[in-house]
Amino acid sequence: MANVKQADFDIPKNSKLTLYSLQLMDIMKKTDFQNDFNNFVDHLFLDCCAYVKNHLNSEEPVIKLVFIAKQAEYERIEKQSNYYSHQREKPKGQTLGFAMTSNLENVIYLNFEPLTRLMLKNLQTFVFNLAALYIHEILHCYYRSIKDEQETLDLTYKLLGNFLGMSLPKEMTPKASDFYTEDNLFR
Ligand SMILES: [Zn+2]
Repeated sequence: MANVKQADFDIPKNSKLTLYSLQLMDIMKKTDFQNDFNNFVDHLFLDCCAYVKNHLNSEEPVIKLVFIAKQAEYERIEKQSNYYSHQREKPKGQTLGFAMTSNLENVIYLNFEPLTRLMLKNLQTFVFNLAALYIHEILHCYYRSIKDEQETLDLTYKLLGNFLGMSLPKEMTPKASDFYTEDNLFR
């Protein structure tokens, strides 16, 4: 997934987004936050997995999550993997994550350098984008080539609003064509 969204709409005080953000704020106040931070991002991932599984009511694919700390390393792996999550589109710019899907195992790679920059700027925006990224890539693992990028984005934002406990403005759903170009090689 290639884009960063600003969480600048009305966020209900009792929403999951607020609760997660407050949790993360407490963690980041600690001098030694690394362990708790790792647990937080793992926990959020498992929550997203459980939510998607529950919504789709279908068998859960095996998914491995890999955080890549350095942008250059992420780009190397992204280039090396001959295909992207959706296998038909190629990203136009920097991506925050992608999924390599297969029958046996799916791996979601996360580009943590831009995500860390986002976190230092605004915790709510970070949580919002991380949840969006997780749900989006998890959906790719379920659907592989059955749904195209736009269908996956539409479903991502539908589930994301419900998951975070708020209604998202319709215009928030990104347009796949803004971020991806079709590449015949991957058809
Ligand atoms: Zn995608």
